[in-house]
Amino acid sequence: MTEILPIPSVPRSQTAWLTPSCVASPDKKEQVSQILKTVNLFNHRFSVRSGGHSPNPGFSILQGEGLLIDLRKINHIAVSSDSKIVDLGPGARWGTVYAKLDSYNVGVLGARIPTVGVGGAFLGGGFFHFSGQFGMAVDNLKSVEIVLADGKIVEASVQQNSDLFWAIKGGGPNYGIVVNYKANTVPVKNMWYQVGQYATSEVPAILDAFAKWQKTGASDVKATVALIIGLESTTLGFFYSEPATKPASFDAFNSLTPLAPVFTTNGTVQSLTDLLGGVAAPGALRHDYRAASSKVDAQLYKDVYAFWRQQADAVHNSTGANMTFTLQPVPPNLAREGSRKGGNPMGVPKEAHQWWTTLVDWTRAEDDDAVRAVPIATEQKWVELSKARGLHVPYLFLNDASRDQNPLASYGAANLQRMRTIAKKYDPGEVFQKLQNGGFLLSKA
Ligand SMILES: Cc1cc2nc3c(=O)[nH]c(=O)nc-3n(C[C@H](O)[C@H](O)[C@H](O)COP(=O)(O)OP(=O)(O)OC[C@H]3O[C@@H](n4cnc5c(N)ncnc54)[C@H](O)[C@@H]3O)c2cc1C
Repeated sequence: MTEILPIPSVPRSQTAWLTPSCVASPDKKEQVSQILKTVNLFNHRFSVRSGGHSPNPGFSILQGEGLLIDLRKINHIAVSSDSKIVDLGPGARWGTVYAKLDSYNVGVLGARIPTVGVGGAFLGGGFFHFSGQFGMAVDNLKSVEIVLADGKIVEASVQQNSDLFWAIKGGGPNYGIVVNYKANTVPVKNMWYQVGQYATSEVPAILDAFAKWQKTGASDVKATVALIIGLESTTLGFFYSEPATKPASFDAFNSLTPLAPVFTTNGTVQSLTDLLGGVAAPGALRHDYRAASSKVDAQLYKDVYAFWRQQADAVHNSTGANMTFTLQPVPPNLAREGSRKGGNPMGVPKEAHQWWTTLVDWTRAEDDDAVRAVPIATEQKWVELSKARGLHVPYLFLNDASRDQNPLASYGAANLQRMRTIAKKYDPGEVFQKLQNGGFLLSKA
């Protein structure tokens, strides 16, 4: 029986707190099917939520007349007897997934922060520490089960509905409600990692080292670097997908001096996820993120960083907002793995580049515009400087994209057209375009 909850559950960011007139919380795919049939019959506005981690207003919740379909109860994590495949319910969260898989001595590609939901992360592609080695999370899917707009429950895989399977892999909430992700596990549980804090004065040297590493050490696909520049200090993480002493792949960073002794261990994916979960900004209620990309170039990184720093410090002083300047390395092997494993619509560039993002945390609604102006201006600076220097990459990673960005259009005209054709085939009445409240929809791309 579908439970009708009296009080809507709350998304992580207060920017997305709205009150729908009705919340349905199904625990079976058949109930999701019934709900979509009802939505269709009565032309009801609706939103779909899995983990509720999107800070984009109206994407996974809605205000007033309409139905929130809250998938939190469809949260199964079922590992096959040979540990090669895991079935994941959209309502599960990645921290729980990695904890369970640890006991089977395998891993799976998903999001890096434990509270992020499975459902939304896959639909935006899913970037993990070892995406350079194995591709995006969606590239490691074997199949999905999806409830279409007319309530029909279908499987999509290489063998069945292969066009739909391709489109789901990063194509956003445009085709139906996914009720099961069947993913191939990867043989990564034990790993080497090192995490350290660095002074703000070291940032230019860190950006030099990062660009140098992207051009040299990043050819070792087992190695990746997390770089999060905050207002007070900078965090650098070096991650290797198997146990090691210090891998030589990170030599480009050897001359940097940390603020305190770095934390080095041979741990597990779960222990790293727990560690990263603990660094999320405590207290702040409102959040946003934003995406931009560029080719590898130390001077570009330093120039955009200097621009961001000035703006971010000023807004921090006037509003208390905290924000980060994060570069995510994308080696050529990421796109190669995507093609090798069947392809996806994302159109990730084949050469080494970076995905910039920023996590923005603040408290007062009256500061929304002033705070969001910083990431917006920084994205414009990336575009302006990278275009002028021949370093522009138009790609926008959907899972980092803010409400006013257009990641689906950045996948390229041919992929966008193919996604539209597939959406029309599986949802001829355009229910997901017309009745769904928000999200990165093809009708708006
Ligand atoms: C602190 C932080 C860290 C992050 N780290 C990562 C990371 O490491 N890697 C990464 O790839 N992303 C990361 N993200 C981005 C995250 O993956 C996206 O915000 C994602 O949309 C969250 O998924 P969710 O299920 O929690 O979201 P929700 O808010 O529930 O949903 C997001 C969107 O997906 C739709 N949707 C959700 N489930 C379904 C479903 N089953 N069927 C159809 N539509 C559905 C919703 O309608 C909505 O449009 C991070 C975000 C934050 C805030």
